[in-house]
Amino acid sequence: MYILRLNAAGQPVEWLTWQETVCLYSRDLIRWSLGDIIYRIRGGYNRSLDNRTVIEVPSIVACGGKRLFPARTNPSLSNNSLFERDNHQCLYCAKHLPRKFLTRDHIVPTSKGGQDDWMNVVASCKRCNQFKSDRPLEETGMSLIALPYRPNAAEYLALVNSNRILQEQADYLSSQFSENCRWSLKESPPVS
Ligand SMILES: [Zn+2]
Repeated sequence: MYILRLNAAGQPVEWLTWQETVCLYSRDLIRWSLGDIIYRIRGGYNRSLDNRTVIEVPSIVACGGKRLFPARTNPSLSNNSLFERDNHQCLYCAKHLPRKFLTRDHIVPTSKGGQDDWMNVVASCKRCNQFKSDRPLEETGMSLIALPYRPNAAEYLALVNSNRILQEQADYLSSQFSENCRWSLKESPPVS
């Protein structure tokens, strides 16, 4: 499980491992936190108190300052995050399909100058992709059931961690989703 890092204003920034989060706690950089404790990490032995320190790590933490770790929120386009964005649904025929039956379709074909960009790609079943081929949409008689969009930070963080996201993290992120966003937490919650 990952810990959702927010900035001090509550905007989502990145996913952290528990080790990275402990590092922020030990440097006293966490300003506030939310959610259940998901890890209890035993720290060093404290001679004066004659016990071990324990750092409790909640599912959401907020801290100021710059990113301490490499940026992971740049919404880079991958098939996994694209198919999550489109709810594992072909945006032409509306079929819900497992990942292996989906493809990345370019609405304006790359052979016609279309970009490999969030705004020009959709999840498509193989059949629709083959039927559409490299024709522009208006020549095919096909239409899209939803419009493509570039995920904002909250949306992107949900898409890239959708298999392991916790309910309270999903709830926090979804409060910052745009109206385009069709992502929702899957019915079977992750096991902790
Ligand atoms: Zn289809």
